[in-house]
Amino acid sequence: MTTFTRARRLDSIPPYLFVELDGAKRALASRGVDLVDLGIGDPDCPTFPEIVEALRSACIDPSTHTYPSQRGEPELREEAARWFASRYGVELDPGREVLALIGTKEGLGHLPLSLLDPGDTAIVPDPAYPVYQSAAHLAGAEIFHMPLEPELGFRPDLDCIPRRVLDAARLATVNFPNNPTGASADLEFFQLLVNRAEEHGFVAVNDGAYSEIVFDVPRVSLLQVDGGRDVGVEFHSFSKTFNMTGWRIGFAVGNPEVLDALATVKNNVDSGAFTAVQRAAMVALSLPQERIDEQVELYRRRRDVLVDGLWEAGWRVRRPHATFYVWARVPTDEDSRTFAARVLNEAHVVVTPGVGFGPSGEGYVRMALTAAEERIAEGVARIARIL
Ligand SMILES: *Cc1c(COP(=O)(O)O)cnc(C)c1O
Repeated sequence: MTTFTRARRLDSIPPYLFVELDGAKRALASRGVDLVDLGIGDPDCPTFPEIVEALRSACIDPSTHTYPSQRGEPELREEAARWFASRYGVELDPGREVLALIGTKEGLGHLPLSLLDPGDTAIVPDPAYPVYQSAAHLAGAEIFHMPLEPELGFRPDLDCIPRRVLDAARLATVNFPNNPTGASADLEFFQLLVNRAEEHGFVAVNDGAYSEIVFDVPRVSLLQVDGGRDVGVEFHSFSKTFNMTGWRIGFAVGNPEVLDALATVKNNVDSGAFTAVQRAAMVALSLPQERIDEQVELYRRRRDVLVDGLWEAGWRVRRPHATFYVWARVPTDEDSRTFAARVLNEAHVVVTPGVGFGPSGEGYVRMALTAAEERIAEGVARIARIL
């Protein structure tokens, strides 16, 4: 048998902290225990039927069967620019300021390879969606973490980043509306970030995967503020908005040189998203707003069932203004993993320990609104019994 060694760069990827919990969950499920699963960041509703129908007709057209165009179909990029302008009032050049992706995660994963040399610094939030940090690690970069604290509404305190870090940084990523905290940003925050990026010469990135899932706050984009299009890139996903996580399609907008650098990496490692999926994505972007609003209302009702129910049970959780997550302080003196394990074993409800999103997530759990309202109500009743 041949022996092999894994590349050392894999050692620097942070450990996956949900192993025990996943095992415990599977063991309970295999015994037939009825679990209320609030752990999954994946919409429970099917893809909108108009989009499925568009894929059906696109995939029987043989012209979609060849290698896709590298930057995405021109029509998709035009539709993305039109969609972006309709939301944010910013007119983008579809030829230079829009790049199609095989999902946002693909773009976020490749961006550090296109901007960072070994030893450069990437600034990432903590807690966060793991790809910002692991992709920067794979590129050999140093990581600086910005803690997200409740006092600032889970927005990072940019004034706390040391000057030498700002000077060494080539990339700073934020994610608003935010997973896992449910927090949102405003234009003032984005302006501050763009000002820092201009002063210190780094690229500012916003992961906008939840841009459409907003309840009580205005939609804002990094590219709306002065200088945003010069130093900024924003990632947009179809996954959460249109229930398309399995389809693998997304796009990036912003600084054309950054998108060119990202496209250079992509040209060397992938060949673009299936053209039929791109055509279906165009239909998604042109759906009437009411269709999206209905989906957002569904999450709003679920949010209120969960938050109101937990308050009644004496657990004072914060009501998120956006996303389908509730980020709640652990109501006991247990750490987040111990508490989540107890909620699983005693209440048969799956919640995600905050520490899995980074050290600053310790003391919190994340509950996803990706279960039916009745199931969420059932989960609340069960949690209430063990509090
Ligand atoms: C789900 C999620 C994504 C993934 O988006 P894809 O377009 O499916 O790759 C990106 N960022 C965050 C914060 C997410 O929660």
